[in-house]
Amino acid sequence: MNQLIRCKNCDEIFMKTPFDQSPEYTFDSRRSTETFRSIETDDYQDFLTNHRGHQLENLEVLEDSFVSEKTYAEPVKTSFFKATNGKEKFLIKKFREKIDEPLKYLLIHGDYSLKCAGIKIQSKEISKQLKRELSPPLSQDKIDAFLKLCHTIAENIEIEGLERIPEESSHPLEIYYKIDDLHLVYLLRNCRNIFKGQEYSAVEEFVHRHKDDGVLLLKATYQIRLTERVKPAKRAIPASMPLKKVEIIGKK
Ligand SMILES: [Zn+2]
Repeated sequence: MNQLIRCKNCDEIFMKTPFDQSPEYTFDSRRSTETFRSIETDDYQDFLTNHRGHQLENLEVLEDSFVSEKTYAEPVKTSFFKATNGKEKFLIKKFREKIDEPLKYLLIHGDYSLKCAGIKIQSKEISKQLKRELSPPLSQDKIDAFLKLCHTIAENIEIEGLERIPEESSHPLEIYYKIDDLHLVYLLRNCRNIFKGQEYSAVEEFVHRHKDDGVLLLKATYQIRLTERVKPAKRAIPASMPLKKVEIIGKK
């Protein structure tokens, strides 16, 4: 079980994982026979030593608060999650700058929000499916006209109130949404000006086939916005703290 610990004096945190106790094996060249010497590494002990005499507390990670800027499988990335000590909420930045570095955790007094940075249609996929599914094939001009209509919808639609399709995306900041009924009516009404007779019927069927989980889903891209709070008033500094550090904190 992972345990998240905060030093209240330093605002530093430590994520205690079952791996912190695992020994590290190194080859000892001074020995004539090839033997391995085990060295007990314990990052948690280091943390406790560095924060001796300080007040430590456990933080509880808030469920479903994880958000990340890159795909789940990407090892070098920055993620954020929220945690609480029961009274205050904190934002934790979890990151790694190089692939061979351990994960770092940083406590931020603040919060994050997700801001929609843009809504796009799946142009390439729509075009490909129209060509594949419609027979006789549509002319390129008509495909372009259909795409233009979809673009207009993406530009004018409000993301709030749209139905989200969570399983479609492997990227945490890309979310797919269904076009709502009102905009589907707009799409089909305008299609009547482009397509006639059998061709219109085929396009109408295409729209119905693809509106719920197909190529007509809109793709919204989100950005993580951080809001930092002013840190709470400085706590009393314990007498054991070096004087120099007290001066630095006092100046701020
Ligand atoms: Zn400390």
